[in-house]
Amino acid sequence: MGNVSIETIMTQEPKVKPESNQLAFGTVFTDHMFTMDYTEGRGWHDPMVVPYEPITIDPAAIVFHYGQTVFEGLKAYVTEEDEVLLFRPEENMKRLNRSNERLCMPHFDEELALEGLRKLIRIDKDWIPNVAGTSLYIRPFIIATQPYLGVAPSKTYRFMIILSPVGAYYKEGINPVKIAVESEFVRAVKGGTGSAKTAGNYAGAMKAQEVAEAKGYSQVLWLDGKEHKYIEEVGAMNVFFKLNGEVITPELNGSILEGITRKSVIELLQYWGIPVIERKISIEELYEAHRAGILEEAFGTGTAAVISPIGELSWLDNKITVNNGEIGTLSKKIYDTITGIQTGKFEDPFGWRMT
Ligand code: PMP
Repeated sequence: MGNVSIETIMTQEPKVKPESNQLAFGTVFTDHMFTMDYTEGRGWHDPMVVPYEPITIDPAAIVFHYGQTVFEGLKAYVTEEDEVLLFRPEENMKRLNRSNERLCMPHFDEELALEGLRKLIRIDKDWIPNVAGTSLYIRPFIIATQPYLGVAPSKTYRFMIILSPVGAYYKEGINPVKIAVESEFVRAVKGGTGSAKTAGNYAGAMKAQEVAEAKGYSQVLWLDGKEHKYIEEVGAMNVFFKLNGEVITPELNGSILEGITRKSVIELLQYWGIPVIERKISIEELYEAHRAGILEEAFGTGTAAVISPIGELSWLDNKITVNNGEIGTLSKKIYDTITGIQTGKFEDPFGWRMT
């Protein structure tokens, strides 16, 4: 579908761009957005780059009532040579289609969506911040637009991509975070929607996050939905542990989201000759490893922070400290390497960057 033309309508009212060193996360949006519509019987049509503006949707649209929607999150960087770099965007488009499949939403052409994304970014290129640690956050998403109060897949959809310049995740260097092990609420269950990136998973996770924050923790460690025994994810990140020199991450089981940073960390460690074991790991095993003095490092992985070291865990009021609350050597090396590849400072032996 590479020959479909993407119409462009330029804004007549460009906005004032924020200062690169004063950016927060997800509060400012660029001048343009990508949109494409789907109609049953006709398929996806009218891919366009248009001025960023509010959209009009019928109040009866299925997305508002039954949450039929999927989304993605990825980042673009600009190098000192003024080149735009995307990090594995084809993986996000693939995952968006997998999420679509789970939510009974129509498959889209990944090449066309990438072409739309590239076109949008070229137009809004001057919005990409260039201070160390900053980036352009990219949010592709699809919503069910048919006005219908019956519980059934929509016959119409809108695919959109919006862009937001974002500040450095770590403003004062990487700080290991305090994590509450969640033993009441669950994020996802096998057979549910946990492996899809869909709004309901995030709405359902807010309560646990709110309770944990009120107790002074920054995120929760999610356990499996059935036995509350096996570790799944941390906040909206995948999770890794280093136990006695061995790197372990929970195996994909249908309720864990398959992170692109997770995949990249596994591939990077393998490249370094450090195998990553994907298996079930219980919270008991983790606490036992700590007692035995072999819990060396723990960290979350995700697009927003890349690597987020875990400094402390609390499970049923039983607190443990990981690596004296400091960032581990391996965590730091992974962080430096992945961010180096993303920003163009390091070689990219994997072909992860796309221009
Ligand atoms: N788990 C969940 C629930 C997430 O929302 C995310 C963020 N997309 C991740 C893991 C990490 O995925 P990625 O590395 O692709 O950002």
